Amino acid sequence: MSKPVRVRFAPSPTGPLHMGGVRTALYNYLFAKKNNGTFVIRIEDTDQTRFVPGAQEYILDALSWCGIMPAEGPGIGGDYGPYIQSERKEIYRPYAELLIEHDKAYYAFDSADDLTAMRDQAKQMGMPNWQYNGVTRLSMKNSLTLSSDDVKNRIENGDPYTIRMKMPRNIDVRFNDEIRGWVVVNTNNLDDKVLFKSDGMPTYHLANVVDDHCMEISHVIRGEEWLPSAPLHVLLYEAFGWDCPKFAHLPLLLKPDGNGKLSKRDGDRLGFPVFPTNWKTSDGDVFPGYREQGYYSGAFINMLAFLGWNPGTTQELFSLDELVEAFTLDRVAKAGAKFDPDKTKWFQQQHLRKHDNKDLAKQLTESSDSTYSHESLETICGLMKERATFVQDILSDGAYLFQKPIEYDPKTIRKKWKDHAKDLMEEWNAVLKSIDTFNPSSIEASFKDFIEKKGVGLGAALPLFRLLVTGRGMGPSMFEIASFLGQDECAERILHGINSVQKLKKGE
Ligand code: GLU
Repeated sequence: MSKPVRVRFAPSPTGPLHMGGVRTALYNYLFAKKNNGTFVIRIEDTDQTRFVPGAQEYILDALSWCGIMPAEGPGIGGDYGPYIQSERKEIYRPYAELLIEHDKAYYAFDSADDLTAMRDQAKQMGMPNWQYNGVTRLSMKNSLTLSSDDVKNRIENGDPYTIRMKMPRNIDVRFNDEIRGWVVVNTNNLDDKVLFKSDGMPTYHLANVVDDHCMEISHVIRGEEWLPSAPLHVLLYEAFGWDCPKFAHLPLLLKPDGNGKLSKRDGDRLGFPVFPTNWKTSDGDVFPGYREQGYYSGAFINMLAFLGWNPGTTQELFSLDELVEAFTLDRVAKAGAKFDPDKTKWFQQQHLRKHDNKDLAKQLTESSDSTYSHESLETICGLMKERATFVQDILSDGAYLFQKPIEYDPKTIRKKWKDHAKDLMEEWNAVLKSIDTFNPSSIEASFKDFIEKKGVGLGAALPLFRLLVTGRGMGPSMFEIASFLGQDECAERILHGINSVQKLKKGE
């Protein structure tokens, strides 16, 4: 029987979560749910120098906005806790010592200055990439070169030391990545990584492997930037005599233009958020987030799901539950995925359209101080939603449904307001006022009948009617708008509009 699926998202609280991080969390979540597994969040904060206050809270809050809810994690608990590495500090040292006992690791006493001196010396000798490895370790200060008494004394004296991996020479490390297939790396390309630091904390590598083992993680699904670390992790599992989890390294997110990795700067440069929710720095700067810009989390994760995965069908719109149903790792691409801000807006538009008018009206009542009745809001949502991206657009784009226009679209005036326009619209106003039952179909029938009699085409006449009533050159059905506004309001707007447009024309 195969092991139960347990996956984890393991962010470091070194800043806010970039949308690439949200995608990693999302794929882990989808994979867990699809396979009746468990999704765990673990905070990897062993590098205290990079700790950013507020980042952990930010990450948990952003994931919760996205609906990516862990079954185990900080603040939730679970059988494998604690889920914050700094709270597991005591766990790691015995594992590092176990590796030393088995000759897979060693104590290193070289100071930062010693290491810098070695690097400088190597550089002068034409070797710019000096590494602590199977060759150079023999000329350094460590438990492989010092006598055991010396080592013992140094440790008892409280001399600072690190514990390093004793990277074997010339071995091909292989593992089968679920996305990339076989990955083979020769250990001659790997250095003796520090596993345990002089501050008494494990490094990312040791803590990550120990925790994945202790938390019985079955699949490690993470960003491609961790692929170079995977061979070391595989060797650590072997050194401990543990089974390796399966690995799946996700493709990079790329800039909308060019091929580089998507960065915060691209967001600033091209004007889109790279963070799920607003991030406030300690200096008071605010980096924009999708939530605060009015995106639905459902649209945001739908877009993210498609950055590196596709369902193999033409369906593009998915709810979170539908994504769970459709998701498989074998449909995740190897190649980097280009982020597309326009497509992101498109997803938002499509998700907005899925909400019924009642629901949209409710969102507007809750999110704005609009005093319009629920009934009018519902009608407006019906009229405007096909053209809106964000729910607030419905009110801003549809402002003319509540207020008389103050401006009139200059392009429509220029192109459509010909000499006959004034008389035509005055006559139409008289007809409009005489309509018995004022509803969209009767207004439409009267209008068409009127222009037919006048021998004017719809393309010439309808924009004039729209211009006078809404001030705009485009919009939803004019007959629906007129019906919503009512006969008197329409008539008044037409009259007022004719005067205003004539004045504008004269001023040209
Ligand atoms: N703490 C690492 C990060 O910040 C996690 C890498 C992994 O998932 O192994 O992304």
